[in-house]
Amino acid sequence: MPRSRESFTGAQNAYRSVLWQAYNLIAAGNGPEPAVCRDALGKVTHWGALLGEPAATKWRRRWAREWYLETGRCPTCGEQGPHHDSTGADILDIPDGDGVK
Ligand SMILES: [Zn+2]
Repeated sequence: MPRSRESFTGAQNAYRSVLWQAYNLIAAGNGPEPAVCRDALGKVTHWGALLGEPAATKWRRRWAREWYLETGRCPTCGEQGPHHDSTGADILDIPDGDGVK
């Protein structure tokens, strides 16, 4: 995959990696072991807390959108089709950082 010229910090890259892992687990449905899911969620929480808000939300949206564009699956529910944000909106319509409280 061609990499953009933009460079990311270690924490941003780590957050991306653990979020992608979590989205892949969600898309796998009932397959993964609960311990694997707990571990992935713990990492998402850890790196989200390190980035802090509102940055964590901004990056979570960005990496979710990237995963969605790559897989065609909704990161929230793992289904093929539109991407539902937790607000129910299609995340492609929400610019990065928008609506961040
Ligand atoms: Zn969905």
